[in-house]
Amino acid sequence: MIIIRTLDELSELIRSSEYASSTIGFVPTMGALHEGHGSLITSAKKDNHLVICSIFVNPTQFNKAEDLEKYPRKEKEDISILEELGCDFLFIPTTEEIYKNYKYVGIDLKELETVMEGKFRPGHFQGVCEIVYRLFDLVKPTRAYFGLKDFQQVAVIKYMTSFFNLPVEIIACPTMREQNGLALSSRNLRLSDTEKQDALIIFNTLDFIKKNLNQFETISKLKTKALQIFNQGKLTLEYLEIVDQSTLTVQNDHNKTNLVACIAAYCNHIRLIDNMIIS
Ligand code: AMP
Repeated sequence: MIIIRTLDELSELIRSSEYASSTIGFVPTMGALHEGHGSLITSAKKDNHLVICSIFVNPTQFNKAEDLEKYPRKEKEDISILEELGCDFLFIPTTEEIYKNYKYVGIDLKELETVMEGKFRPGHFQGVCEIVYRLFDLVKPTRAYFGLKDFQQVAVIKYMTSFFNLPVEIIACPTMREQNGLALSSRNLRLSDTEKQDALIIFNTLDFIKKNLNQFETISKLKTKALQIFNQGKLTLEYLEIVDQSTLTVQNDHNKTNLVACIAAYCNHIRLIDNMIIS
């Protein structure tokens, strides 16, 4: 695997005849790689001639300085994981390098920015768009791979790509979980074994919602029961919403089609998110 740290090295790669004549699968990450990231690399390898992964902990998408500072960084381990997976290129820039001579224009994300992650992490998706737009422009991928673990992020990226008419196909990949259901996340590295056990309440609540969708007359009643179940656990809930998969508008009535249930919660200061398509 070729490791690229500067924009000059990256432009040299983009201009090479091999890169220019190949389909390029791109997997943007913040590192501390696990099997969830691995599944994106594997999908990218299947669909494209070459795969490029980026590792960059983007400061502009963090709301809390502590979260940014404590975000796990594991460059050495990440490099060996990517080599084992057969990734062709790793782009791993510094903040100064990636944002050199770059001015983000901004995008009105409309209601995508006013619910769930958008509501509780103001500015987060502007930061996500800022870095992803920059990376797309630099890497020039044919296809880019994102995990449905971050369901709202996928919706935002698809919206941005279509808004700016960017020449890249967005591929959404399923959430990888531990056997007990806990969604894999780099943030799990900050959880003790007991906390990981406690965090299972997120998956169990989502699973309850999925299995009992038709037992309740309205979404609102189902949510009330789901909240009771969640509150039996030890986590602090930020939101539990059942939303339309396409528009992400919150549903409370009788509509039982095209739904995804989403939860964000704190497990002892560590913020975790997960979701499940329920209909
Ligand atoms: P991150 O490093 O957390 O920014 O994630 C990089 C990419 O990996 C994003 O597209 C995530 O949605 C995706 N990802 C993170 N966790 C998982 C998971 N458990 N399963 C599938 N994809 C994931």
